[in-house]
Amino acid sequence: MKIEGGCYCGEIRYESTGDIQFQMQCHCRECQYITGGNPNVINVVPADGFRFTKGEPKSFTRSDLEKPVTRYFCGNCGTAIGTRTPSRPDSFIIKVGTMDDQSHFKPQAAIFAIDKRHYHHIDEGVPTFERRPG
Ligand SMILES: [Zn+2]
Ligand SMILES: [Zn+2]
Repeated sequence: MKIEGGCYCGEIRYESTGDIQFQMQCHCRECQYITGGNPNVINVVPADGFRFTKGEPKSFTRSDLEKPVTRYFCGNCGTAIGTRTPSRPDSFIIKVGTMDDQSHFKPQAAIFAIDKRHYHHIDEGVPTFERRPG
């Protein structure tokens, strides 16, 4: 399925053509920084079907973690666009908020519920995990 999206200012655009591998929301403390408070809602897609079609995102990787993720964001407006993680080297993780069409998003899991805040919402029936699914 084709997904197109980009950042708030329009400097960065991307497209993804692979099948969506997983959709979920993450409530961890780190995600709260990235989103501004709410859980991250993400689409996991094949990395080989993902490409930036306009602009070059900036990236950030923490040097003090053993297996840090790399975060891609617009250097102009700061929008968080997506992530690569060493635990899923063949995937690219897209932030749902950057997709032009978000209508098909339906979380299959809510993870790191251990860090969930009282103002976070998890839809009824969404499998919820204290950390990661086993
Ligand atoms: Zn931007
Ligand atoms: Zn998280």
